[in-house]
Amino acid sequence: MTMKCSDVQELLAPYADGVLAEVEQQTAEEHISHCDSCRLRVEAQQSVAIALRSLKRSQRAEAPSDHVLREIRAQWNRMDVRPRRQLRTQLASVAALLLVCTFGVVWARLAVDRSFPANFIIENYKQIAASPLQPQYLTSDPANGAKWLRAKLHAPVPPVNMSLVNAKLVGVSVIRLHGIKSGQMLFNTPAGFAAVYVVPGRTAFRSLSTAQLDGNHFHALTDVGEPGLYAWSYNGLGFGVADTSASEAETCAVAAQRSTSMP
Ligand SMILES: [Zn+2]
Repeated sequence: MTMKCSDVQELLAPYADGVLAEVEQQTAEEHISHCDSCRLRVEAQQSVAIALRSLKRSQRAEAPSDHVLREIRAQWNRMDVRPRRQLRTQLASVAALLLVCTFGVVWARLAVDRSFPANFIIENYKQIAASPLQPQYLTSDPANGAKWLRAKLHAPVPPVNMSLVNAKLVGVSVIRLHGIKSGQMLFNTPAGFAAVYVVPGRTAFRSLSTAQLDGNHFHALTDVGEPGLYAWSYNGLGFGVADTSASEAETCAVAAQRSTSMP
């Protein structure tokens, strides 16, 4: 028996989701086995479902995009029951919606959280201080290290040179700080290891106090007996220098900021 497209329209969406009873599933299967138009609809719905799932996975707990996701699903369901719409138009609308949705997620992230992951940096620095791992890219040349990080982070990372305070670059790594792909430059100093962190796009320092060092502006996280962190933004990048103590971090931060802000 051959069914018309209009007879199976209502089965296509649940078929794509795999939630039909066996008899209806066979009906739908039989139809799409010889009807390209309906098969394409099913495939389109399935690819949208996959895209939605991966968006959902990637978006974590940010509230605005949840709303966007519900919207897109409702929109798709409305399209699905609307008869006589051209498949091509539907796919174009879905593609546009997905674009809006993806952009919305990205935008929501940028708008919601640009904060510098200071606490994660302190945790990372404590691990380094306790047992330093070998950097992923060993180099003593700040220009080389910056070039390697620029390629890995797709961000305009400048060389950081702290030779003025006798800090020598050991190597650089890409690490994740609170899920953010970041650069870590490891330096050997007379007082121990110091690390410079480069976090693209994270230039809000809300949780940190402000500090003037050597006439320049910094954001600081300093607790007695703990590693010290001084941070600043440059070129859309969040920078942080962590060292064994606040005073060591201060010395390195002044040198590091001076070297990055040179043309
Ligand atoms: Zn059909």
